[in-house]
Amino acid sequence: MSARIGAHKIAGVLGLLLGTTGAGASAAPAEEYLLDMAIAVHPQSERGSPAETAARVGAMLDEATRVVEGIDGVPPGEMSCPIRFRASNIHRYDGAPPAPPYACGTGRRDEAALFPESVLGEASGCANPVAQGLGMFVGSGFYRSPADAGITYAHEMGHLAGVPGDHAGWGGTLLGGSGVRTLDVPANLCQIYLDFAASRGAARATAACISGSGLPPSPDPYTPDPRFSACHARDGWCDGYGRCVDAPAACVDGHALPSRGADCSAAGRCRACTGSRSECVPCETAVAVDASRPGLLLVESSASGNRDLLYRSTPRAGSASGGSELDLFLDFGAPISGLARNPTDGVLYLVSPQRGSSDRTACSIATGVRTAAAVSGSIAARSARSESAGSGISA
Ligand SMILES: [Zn+2]
Repeated sequence: MSARIGAHKIAGVLGLLLGTTGAGASAAPAEEYLLDMAIAVHPQSERGSPAETAARVGAMLDEATRVVEGIDGVPPGEMSCPIRFRASNIHRYDGAPPAPPYACGTGRRDEAALFPESVLGEASGCANPVAQGLGMFVGSGFYRSPADAGITYAHEMGHLAGVPGDHAGWGGTLLGGSGVRTLDVPANLCQIYLDFAASRGAARATAACISGSGLPPSPDPYTPDPRFSACHARDGWCDGYGRCVDAPAACVDGHALPSRGADCSAAGRCRACTGSRSECVPCETAVAVDASRPGLLLVESSASGNRDLLYRSTPRAGSASGGSELDLFLDFGAPISGLARNPTDGVLYLVSPQRGSSDRTACSIATGVRTAAAVSGSIAARSARSESAGSGISA
């Protein structure tokens, strides 16, 4: 099977995508504050081994960081706030472990205590701003999920930073109180975290997926890096919402995921990209796709309508259950307002009403199984920024 796509059509894709992703990549990476706490673990909250306990604590802190640095709601009510939570050390609760009811922490400054039972009734944590410590419930054997515990941790750290215990004035945020804890971090909450970190003399590092230097609407506001851009100072790729997804850098080309089977042996632990979840896996686990069966094209519309993502699901070869695999991502970088398919060659035209740019009002992309290679080819060409992008793409 052979598929070709005209150079002018590829140029349309190039123009749109390079134009939009280039603008977002100009700002300098943000500096994040590293907000450390000692973590004291009650013996009953430990997991099977010290290493497992430390890993669980680390996962919780990563999730807390994701809450603050990631965008979960709709801007401008929600923003990427460059605060990273870390453990200065993780240790067993010193001395004889206390019995319930537990206090708000261990009484030590800058220390968080993890307890097997709830600290205050149904509440899952409490903070002592005077002692600058907090206590929170993670369950026996730390059964509470890191994502769930991370929300509480970020919340209680907000109290240490200065949010009052009654949450007055902080409704609709992470600090909603009364058990209502959204993941939203608006500018005023970010500011109190930043001031708190600065007052503690917190160390700073490069944020993985946030650029800018100030709170919105400053001239250089904190902004999530574009989806599929490589993370700063660590492996992985940015999810477009301020978070770095832990995936081998070898499976990210800067703006899009490479196609299935692309070599990623440079990452050491892997040999081939799946092309779907940015995973880099041993070659023998690569999933074969049945090109003779029809695929499905999906458009994931972003909340704001301006970061639409196109992806393709293709049936797996030899799959009795009829399973399919997402094998192509394309960050359109713009809203998709319409589409049409040319039945003679299978080319699908996507229409994007870009503001103030008449030459970007429409572009085309080949898709569907019959022209799958043309799609992959256009993405590869885009990442390589090659002038010969339009030449000789065939399946
Ligand atoms: Zn609270």
